[in-house]
Amino acid sequence: MTKEITGHTRLVGLFATPIRHSVSPMIQNAGFQALGIDAVYLAFDLGTDRIERAIDSIRNLEMLGANLSMPNKIAAVPLMDDLSDAAKLVGAINTIVNQDGKLTGHITDGIGFMRSLKDIDVDIIGKKMTITGAGGAATAIIVQAALDGVKEIAVYNIKDEFFERIQATLQTIAESTGCKIVLNDLADEAALAKDVAESVLLTNATGVGMKPNTEASTIKNFDIITKELAVVDIIYTPRETKLLKEAKVRGAKTSNGLGMLLYQGAAAFELWTGQAMPIDVVKPIIEKN
Ligand code: NAD
Repeated sequence: MTKEITGHTRLVGLFATPIRHSVSPMIQNAGFQALGIDAVYLAFDLGTDRIERAIDSIRNLEMLGANLSMPNKIAAVPLMDDLSDAAKLVGAINTIVNQDGKLTGHITDGIGFMRSLKDIDVDIIGKKMTITGAGGAATAIIVQAALDGVKEIAVYNIKDEFFERIQATLQTIAESTGCKIVLNDLADEAALAKDVAESVLLTNATGVGMKPNTEASTIKNFDIITKELAVVDIIYTPRETKLLKEAKVRGAKTSNGLGMLLYQGAAAFELWTGQAMPIDVVKPIIEKN
């Protein structure tokens, strides 16, 4: 159902820098084409110095909306007319929806993460999870998990600036969602072992284990992983991190970051078009990139 570009075609932008490597234009345009939606998705290489003008263009050019990535996810927040509940708690947005000039900022990373768990048949609602990381991706995951009804989240991070910064955020998330959230030092291996034993899911939301440092992991003692646990590493280069390899050997269900990447895009697509992204069309594009 290929649609030609016409005088009616609407634009969706991706505002970030660097951005030329992004797979998002491929997946979003494939989704539009497959469903015959009269829209195009284009990447614009721009940072915080031009984000205000770029966001004004969404209104002026009557664009459907935009995606944002680094370094614009936080800088764009005060430029929105409204924010989703998750965006308010995270303090960052990756998706803007334009409704007749009113711009609403959303964060779909956490939605994508939660949706990706369905593919490995893991249900964490009303249960406990442990996560390593306290940066942007971890915060989005923690917020969505708490909003969706996860009962308890044990957060582990090294004692760096992220550790100091996330304390107050976690308290606000816990107070507004009723989810119990405890921040711990990643160096406390005994506490980590206990929390993992009580959890149904262990997630790595740091870049530790990414190429080229593929032997690195935030988990040092892999024997805390049992076959009853599910392990998700949001890294997707490599497809199987050291953590995922070790988890697989121990019989745990595993998933890499491609699911989160795919479904955060699917959630944005749905916000702009009101239609579900055709996952069967888009998944092979993500997997080969
Ligand atoms: P960030 O810079 O905001 O956070 C980095 C985190 O890593 C912090 O918690 C920091 O304390 C921790 N960290 C850094 N060095 C560490 C070390 N040596 N040991 C332990 N922890 C350490 O980054 P981010 O945006 O949150 O991204 C984190 C990772 O998630 C990246 O690898 C990124 O590619 C990946 N990511 C994946 C998706 C996806 O869709 N799959 C989305 C966003 C980010």
